[in-house]
Amino acid sequence: MQAVLEKLRERKAESIELLQNFVVVESFSHDKEGIDQLSNVLTEVFSKYNLTIERYPQEQYGDHIRFQLGQGHKQILLISHLDTVYPKGTIKTMPFIVEEGKVMGPGVIDIKASYVMVYHLFDLLQDVELNDYQIVWLLTSDEEIGSPSGKVIVEQEAGKSDAVLVLEPATDDGEIKTARKGGGKFTVAVTGISAHAGLNPQDGANAIEELAYQITNIVSFANESKGTTINTGEIKGGNLFNVVPDFASAEIDVRVTEMSEVARIEEAFQTLRVRNKRTKLKVTGSVYRPPLIRTDQTSHLFHLAQNIGNQINVELTDKMVGGGSDGNYAAKTGKPVLDGLGPYGGFAHSPNEYLWIDTIAERTAIVYGLIRELISNGK
Ligand SMILES: [Zn+2]
Repeated sequence: MQAVLEKLRERKAESIELLQNFVVVESFSHDKEGIDQLSNVLTEVFSKYNLTIERYPQEQYGDHIRFQLGQGHKQILLISHLDTVYPKGTIKTMPFIVEEGKVMGPGVIDIKASYVMVYHLFDLLQDVELNDYQIVWLLTSDEEIGSPSGKVIVEQEAGKSDAVLVLEPATDDGEIKTARKGGGKFTVAVTGISAHAGLNPQDGANAIEELAYQITNIVSFANESKGTTINTGEIKGGNLFNVVPDFASAEIDVRVTEMSEVARIEEAFQTLRVRNKRTKLKVTGSVYRPPLIRTDQTSHLFHLAQNIGNQINVELTDKMVGGGSDGNYAAKTGKPVLDGLGPYGGFAHSPNEYLWIDTIAERTAIVYGLIRELISNGK
């Protein structure tokens, strides 16, 4: 493994150049044109390898894309995404810069460095006997907005796989993500009856007061010992202080760490009933992202990665994180999922996002070792 790592280190300048090619093609989640252009660039760059490339055309969102190496009946799935959180034009204020072992620019760690990783992986795998395996790299176009159109494909491909390796960045300390919270969003809207606060308040039905009552109920759905949290993040309602408001609404964020909490929370929201019978309540939303749970299979996969890390003097540790990824949807299939295997740095989703350049070689060597291990174990 050390020899593989050394070889990858020698290709540092090439890695930086490749990364720059990917970063300058901006691909904001809501910019279909930019995302599809990025798919074109990837198709061109990866055309040097003997891959089967399939595009999943989308109308509203960018197309998803899938690269396949080999034709085995068993599958190892690698997951990245095409989109970033940075609107088109961000590159002007956040240019691609290389300095002091770091690279900066929109989406460098989340998630374009992973493309460079896969580029090297496919190169290394050219000389490897894949046995019964095919290696699939799937890139969704809408991961940063919850994968509304990509999640179906993630679940399909994960379901066909022996192992799912998600190339999201590791934590800022290089930890692998063996568990992620699941979550969702609910909207609670109350319709009341408007009236003059001084002349005829008795004719009104106060939507804000009803909503406030509902929120105190909703807060009680949290369960600290199970890791379920509730956050009322946004409220709207009313127009003037001396008018009984006829409308109020709240947006609520929910996070869960246990699968059983998904159903409990969804049911709890459905049991909400108005206190003031002259108001009306409308609840919409769901816990759309299931939790990624550290199963025994996940632990096994992590220990394999740890062993490979040891061979190159990298001590891998793991962590449960709050944010979701396509790894959550992959985990729904019950297949072993290891997330956060990508190169890392810091300040993801912010103007200061950066990548430690050397982590490209290091993490590529680890994922390469992991794939080889899976292939020889699964023979
Ligand atoms: Zn990401």
